[in-house]
Amino acid sequence: MPDSLAELRECHDCGLFHRVGPIETGSVARCLRCNAVLLRARHDPFDRPLALALSALALFAVAIFMPFMSLNIGGQQVAASLFTGPERMEQQGLWQLALLVTVTTLVAPMLKLLATVYVLVGVRQRQPPAHLRVIFRWIEHLTPWSMIEVYLLGVFVAYTKLVDMAQVHVGMALFAFAGVMIAMTAADSALDPEAVWQAIDRRSPSEIRKPRVVEGLASDAVGCHCCGLVSGINRHAHCPRCGSALHVRKPNSIARTWALLLAAAILYVPANLYPVMTVISLGKGTPDTILSGVEELAHAGMWPLALLVFFASVTVPMLKLIGLIVMLVATGMGSRRRLRDRTVLYRIVEFVGRWSMIDVFMISILVGLVQLGNLATIEPGVGAVSFASVVILTMLAAESFDPRLMWDAAEAAGGSES
Ligand SMILES: [Zn+2]
Ligand SMILES: [Zn+2]
Repeated sequence: MPDSLAELRECHDCGLFHRVGPIETGSVARCLRCNAVLLRARHDPFDRPLALALSALALFAVAIFMPFMSLNIGGQQVAASLFTGPERMEQQGLWQLALLVTVTTLVAPMLKLLATVYVLVGVRQRQPPAHLRVIFRWIEHLTPWSMIEVYLLGVFVAYTKLVDMAQVHVGMALFAFAGVMIAMTAADSALDPEAVWQAIDRRSPSEIRKPRVVEGLASDAVGCHCCGLVSGINRHAHCPRCGSALHVRKPNSIARTWALLLAAAILYVPANLYPVMTVISLGKGTPDTILSGVEELAHAGMWPLALLVFFASVTVPMLKLIGLIVMLVATGMGSRRRLRDRTVLYRIVEFVGRWSMIDVFMISILVGLVQLGNLATIEPGVGAVSFASVVILTMLAAESFDPRLMWDAAEAAGGSES
């Protein structure tokens, strides 16, 4: 049962405060102005996500220790595990890529699962450990960097490229990894963060100062961007529930987003001009750029896949760059037009960002598997580093932009119209 403190909630997309009464399990409370999800009450918010996270961990262990894929060309065989791709990239001097692939496919998902299990077990104790709050907060920060589903799509693209030139055997680890993805996605949608926060607070109450409410408006209320608690701004400016720094709006949002976008736009040029990988066959090397990779898929008649890779690697980065520039300019001008549409655009930009990593993961798999000396070898190229940087920088740009500023700017210019 939610206590009175949990009733006041700020919309994270437009900044409107709502009074949300207790909602039925399985139902959703949405923002009246921009339709963002304010609160979602899950059935069985403790046991189900715990069981799913434990299964995901068990499958993860299988995925780490078993062979992932093996390749057979002219009697020569190469087997690769999850680590082979990053290892090879590191040997080629592209340690940044190796690090990125390792973090997004192994470290972040593993830490997220361990943290989820730890919190869901800890919250059952009569006196939950004090650091439970910090660990639960970190799950929120790890989520965008855990990209198993994108990796699996990268595996699929790599597989279709390989079946033409060699015999490919899929190992146990790949099936286990697909299982990790399914269990993790199910655990994510079964987890109810608000229910967990309230359970932690019931067992070891934190001192939450209620905001002053004047004529139905909270005069000094601020919503926590991490756990969603609305409290009165206190001396320490830290969320009393999860400990995150409290800001009415994300600090220096506009300037930071511009800076990250500019850096991404500059790197977009080498990302498309330089080869992302080189295929060396019988001593002859053919460099591949992002676009030539798409062309190759199209020439081979794999149109759906060519379109998918084109969308993920070319359209999505462009959409993010242009979309964020539109939002920044409209905010700067205090535009009141199409506010709701711009908010939806923000949600799309934030959601699709990670999918551009398909090409980076595909390269990691190809580089790990195709190493048969003069017969056939694939080497990573510098273009891949620039491309991965564009993906990361645009993800960070979307994260630093505060969509509530669009609504603030419109309000300052004289009432919001959508
Ligand atoms: Zn809203
Ligand atoms: Zn908080």
